[in-house]
Amino acid sequence: MNFPENEKEVLNYWDEKNIFKKTLEKPAPQGSFVFYEGPPTANGKPGIHHAESRAFKDCIPRFKTMQGYNVVRKAGWDTHGLPVEIEVEKQLGFTGKAEIEEYGIDKFNARCKESVWTYKGDWEAFTKRLGYWVDLDDPYITYKPEYIESLWWVVKQVWEKGLLYKDYRVTPHCPRCGTSLSSHELSQGYKDVKDLSVTAKFKLVGIDNEYVLAWTTTPWTLPGNVGLAVGKELDYVKIKQGDDLLWLAKGRLSDVMEGDVEIVEEVKGEALVGKEYEPLYPFMQELMEGTEEGEKKAWYIMPADFVTTEDGTGVVHTAVMYGADDFTLGNEVGLPKFHLVKLDGTYIDGTAFLAGRFVADEQVAIDIIKDLAHRGLLFAKAKYEHSYPHCWRCKTKVIYYAKDSWYIRMSELRDELLRQNATIHWEPSHIQDGRFGEWLREVKDWAFSRERYWGTPLPIWESEDGDRLCVGSFDELRELAKDKTLVGETFDPHRPFVDDVVLVKDGKEFKRVPDVCDVWFDSGSMPYAQWHYPFENKELVDSGELYPADYISEAIDQTRGWFYTLLAVSTLLGRKSAYKNVICLGHVLDAEGKKMSKSLGNIVEPMEMMEKHGADAVRWYMYTINQPGESKRFDEKMLSDMVRQNFGILMNVASFYEMFAEGEVATTEPTHVLDRWILARLNKLVTETTERLEGYVITETVRELGEFITDLSTWYVRRSRDRVKGEDVQDRMAAIATLRECLHVFSRLMAPFAPFLAETLYKKVGGTEESVHLDTWPNVNQSLIDEEVLTRMDETRAIVTKVLERRVEAGVPVKQVLSSVTICIPSGTFAEEYQALVRAEVNVKDVIVKKGEMGADLDLTLTPELIREGTVREMIRNVNALRKNVGLTIEDKIELYVSGPEEVMKAALDYQETLLHSTLADLLRTDGEPPEHHASFTVNEFEITIGFVTIK
Ligand SMILES: [Zn+2]
Repeated sequence: MNFPENEKEVLNYWDEKNIFKKTLEKPAPQGSFVFYEGPPTANGKPGIHHAESRAFKDCIPRFKTMQGYNVVRKAGWDTHGLPVEIEVEKQLGFTGKAEIEEYGIDKFNARCKESVWTYKGDWEAFTKRLGYWVDLDDPYITYKPEYIESLWWVVKQVWEKGLLYKDYRVTPHCPRCGTSLSSHELSQGYKDVKDLSVTAKFKLVGIDNEYVLAWTTTPWTLPGNVGLAVGKELDYVKIKQGDDLLWLAKGRLSDVMEGDVEIVEEVKGEALVGKEYEPLYPFMQELMEGTEEGEKKAWYIMPADFVTTEDGTGVVHTAVMYGADDFTLGNEVGLPKFHLVKLDGTYIDGTAFLAGRFVADEQVAIDIIKDLAHRGLLFAKAKYEHSYPHCWRCKTKVIYYAKDSWYIRMSELRDELLRQNATIHWEPSHIQDGRFGEWLREVKDWAFSRERYWGTPLPIWESEDGDRLCVGSFDELRELAKDKTLVGETFDPHRPFVDDVVLVKDGKEFKRVPDVCDVWFDSGSMPYAQWHYPFENKELVDSGELYPADYISEAIDQTRGWFYTLLAVSTLLGRKSAYKNVICLGHVLDAEGKKMSKSLGNIVEPMEMMEKHGADAVRWYMYTINQPGESKRFDEKMLSDMVRQNFGILMNVASFYEMFAEGEVATTEPTHVLDRWILARLNKLVTETTERLEGYVITETVRELGEFITDLSTWYVRRSRDRVKGEDVQDRMAAIATLRECLHVFSRLMAPFAPFLAETLYKKVGGTEESVHLDTWPNVNQSLIDEEVLTRMDETRAIVTKVLERRVEAGVPVKQVLSSVTICIPSGTFAEEYQALVRAEVNVKDVIVKKGEMGADLDLTLTPELIREGTVREMIRNVNALRKNVGLTIEDKIELYVSGPEEVMKAALDYQETLLHSTLADLLRTDGEPPEHHASFTVNEFEITIGFVTIK
């Protein structure tokens, strides 16, 4: 079967018959099962990792639907934020915010809105081709006004709880994008980089040649230095080096200094506190002069608790505006707060050789070092390798920068977040206390505002005297708006339009703060905003019909992304966790384990894979290759082997069934041991599959389905071939009915995972519903789970394997019949029905059973009698092959011709009856010339010719 072609037919069939819609409309006696779609952004093409996540997203809802649940699956699109803005900036050739503002925010946002649909068609085609059933006709879209209105409602709830606040503090800031980043965004952008580190000499005031050494990995912050911090209790030494006297922590001596050093003085850090030093750069002092900040005391040594002797010199360079600890310390002791760097990451005018230059530029660090060296203030420089955060979207080095931002007090909710996390079922389970738990235990306040354009506007308005209003709905906005014409029915709540809306309350005017919300807030609020809650569907969400999600699945990096913001928002709203069960997926790498990238040229196109091998194949591969949480090395060769081993074999079994199926086959109480065995095996499979899926265990489930295919084919069908072709009608019918039952149940078990092939198989075995996906999940027939027969059959197969190995060792082919095998079995009993299977499979005449440790001993003695019997079997095989070649059917009777040496003729005559019966011959001729249809072959060193003529 050409699987990809077959899948296209199935897709057409689903379309024509509206099968997905029908699965949503069918009765759901179990009630609702809630699934949330984590929204992708359609401004990039879907990749193979999306095939992974969509495969996992799809299987559980299909399973639950078959179990009788109603599983609403609303598609969603994430449309705001930096990913979109940067894409448009690239298109327009912009490098920063100034160009956007010049271009016009309205025009810029219009382009953003358009750009998010660039690959919508690809996404839809991909989603459909993969067989991921989700309602693409009625998706939630995060830029829609009603979606934004729900988000505003959420913000207002947070506001009213006093959890949203504005603060001036050092925050991670992307100088290129000109905006704050939250800790969860930051955690997605760490990169190992080599930076220049500097140990600078700070000259003490009034003493010649005496310096304090301080170290930094961000030389660009040195001009902003306003203090040096020491540990009060730490030991410091003054050493002599050449003409210089240098202060540093004693504990750092051996790391910082080479060779012998002369210690001149040793003191506790406390003794250094208060000493003044000369500013490293005079321009800092000049620029501050005359300002309020210039009045504050700076450039002296102060104590701080965070100073250690782990790295550097044990003296911490303090640039209040560019470090979180520095800022806190500066606040405590009243250091001046003065920016030398603008929000766009460039130095202000008046900073000598640095003016106008970008802080993250490596040449800036080099020039600072050169300048220090020139002035005799450089002690050392080195390459320093460390993991440093970069903007998750534009890859620019993040800087720490003091400024105003809006925060949500997540740190206050830490305990509740942990309590809610404890209720979530994580797959893999170690995420709960590991990656996610760790994150929550360290949770920081959410840096919530972005100084950007294309996003959900922060619904905060400020008056000139600092009063603030938070708006929680469009009605509220309309009520307060000074100019109501700006907020008509069709108003666009985006920037810049909303910026023009001035509010009036108690005679005071309020202007909107310019920020937008963190885009991760959009998707984290989808449980409510996708239903325009609470303005619509309030009852459905509050009653539990649509909330919380029973199941979600995304890649593992979402522990800092969507998994986190979903929980953050639900916790902010005082609700229980927005999801109950979650499967976290590992990343997809190339076959060698390398990250896929355009530059390496190792990107696997999901559509191409599906065209080549089929969607079922891609899905099955993702489910079975390893555990969901592990990284997956995508290996096309393994995928195609898997198709053959599973789907190919399954379809061979299905063809075998079709060839022999005769009309309606009723299942009867199984009597034959093979039937009893496979039905026990099948029902056990149903039990285990159901249990596992209810526990969100996918890999073992699908692997077991594969095992069943193997057992069904290589044991049940193989050993039942003779029954199906035999003359015992009762037994033949039983075998066919059993096989049909197996395939019918199996088609339903595999439906969540390989939805296309399951459909085809279901139809082949006469499934009565319009689609396998409209049928019910199989019930277990407990009475058929016969553990005895399962154990005995395992023993039987183990024995067979041993005996066949023995034959190979001895070089006696299976077609040569042997007289007996003696098998040892712990119980000492081995029923005739199992013995019969052994006899047939390993081709011996007798099975002798003994009590003892499991084993088998094959009698390899070849008597003339056995050789004759083996010879006859070969004749039969050759005659039947010739009959098939010539095109005879079972209706055609023949006169058989045999010629060969005396031993051969004796064998033919001794076993004449078997020979004639097995070849559908009426007569045997052993003399004269061979007839027209004949063939010669060698067996046991005898030249034999067989042939026949048809009897009219
Ligand atoms: Zn950036």
